[in-house]
Amino acid sequence: MATKLSSAGGAPVKRSDISGFYKKSPDERWQTIREFGELEPAEVDTIRNTGALRFEQVDRMIENVVGTMPLPLGIAVNFQVNGKDYLIPMAIEEPSVVAAASNAARIAREHGGFTTSSTGPIMLGQIQLVGIPDPNGARITILSHRDEILSIANEKDPMLVKVGGGARDIEVRVLDSKRGPMVITHLVVDCRDAMGANAVNTMAEAVAPHLEKWTGGRVYLRIISNLAVRRLARSRAVFGKESLKTDTLPGEEVVEGILEAYAFAEADPFRCATHNKGVMNGIDAVVVATGNDWRAIEAGAHSYAAWKSNGYRSLTAWEKDASGNLVGTIELPMAVGLVGGATAVHPTAKANVKLLGVKSAQELGEVIASVGLAQNFAALRALATEGIQRGHMSLHARNIAATVGAVGDEVDRVVEVLVKERKVRMDRAKEVLTDLRAKKH
Ligand code: NAD
Repeated sequence: MATKLSSAGGAPVKRSDISGFYKKSPDERWQTIREFGELEPAEVDTIRNTGALRFEQVDRMIENVVGTMPLPLGIAVNFQVNGKDYLIPMAIEEPSVVAAASNAARIAREHGGFTTSSTGPIMLGQIQLVGIPDPNGARITILSHRDEILSIANEKDPMLVKVGGGARDIEVRVLDSKRGPMVITHLVVDCRDAMGANAVNTMAEAVAPHLEKWTGGRVYLRIISNLAVRRLARSRAVFGKESLKTDTLPGEEVVEGILEAYAFAEADPFRCATHNKGVMNGIDAVVVATGNDWRAIEAGAHSYAAWKSNGYRSLTAWEKDASGNLVGTIELPMAVGLVGGATAVHPTAKANVKLLGVKSAQELGEVIASVGLAQNFAALRALATEGIQRGHMSLHARNIAATVGAVGDEVDRVVEVLVKERKVRMDRAKEVLTDLRAKKH
């Protein structure tokens, strides 16, 4: 039970030290959270609703399962990548992202859409060796065992080798650290259509004891690196200046505004964090919709933004071509898969991948990079012209209206007033709703 009497015998205290929660039946888990959180039956029902998934499926995916956390799934339209049209599934709770991506893709489409490329699906596994008096000597010793290391790694994943992937090479670095020199071996693995973390980790673990034997050192960590510098996706698009104009600004000026905004991001990490967050609005939404590991993508993106040049920089670049049109490019790590993890077991993710029609993890990564570029364009354009709030306002107002309890056509009527008055605030929404209802009676 989550609620127990205190030792003093007074008011019940809530205890989270519940052993074997995972062994409890679903009913017992719901009972526990209901008592602990003092939840209403309807609240527990909301949590336990697993939507498109069966409880047993969810229960197999993670531990201590009590339900699911549904997110809205929207479809971004207008995307054309390398001449092929895509409908893009995006799972995200933030309003205006899907609309912004669709709008940006419409403008990019006028100049041929997105053109992409990528490196191979290469991930790096790291093996950390410490306690070596002659780290440079150990490095050379490890390199001399390259072929053996690759066979040990590949024996662990015949399936990956069969589909054309597997361990390809090794790199060995001597790293200076707070605790003295370490010898870090990188396993260079072609992961084909897998994100690859399990595959690479298994290989790294298999290789590790051999490195200890050959060098006399001690292995600690054996794990994939999310700074996937060998698994980059790139995309480029042209946004015609004529299509950028607003009611008050000519296209040329909007282009200049976007270039100023980009220069700001490149010069200032405080701005750049938000600039890259805008990129990730688009990227994460597709990564989530396809059942991929968005923490891995986030870690890869931001570490790459810091690693590629001196300091934390933009994941995108913005320039003007000879005709004065805006040219956007993006290049970032894109460790996504079509097999493994949740991608092939989550029914909604599977349906979304089918809808996307991508045939390889590389194609998926390139499409996702294009969505990130589109999203960045949309945010910069809004920021450089009317400011971000105007576009957000009516969508945000809908959320506010719903939060204060507006239902049915009340939502539209509250939104209309809030947007008109430019007061998208909870207190005003409450007043408007109260007035509306008073007028009805
Ligand atoms: P996985 O092991 O479930 O699937 C990959 C395996 O599928 C390959 O090893 C291969 O044997 C097989 N396979 C079949 N067809 C294939 C094809 N066409 N291409 C490639 N492989 C094919 O999953 P994974 O991709 O190795 O690992 C992904 C999971 O690891 C994700 O759930 C992620 O969240 C998790 N994870 C991530 C990290 C991290 O990012 N740091 C760490 C640990 C675990």
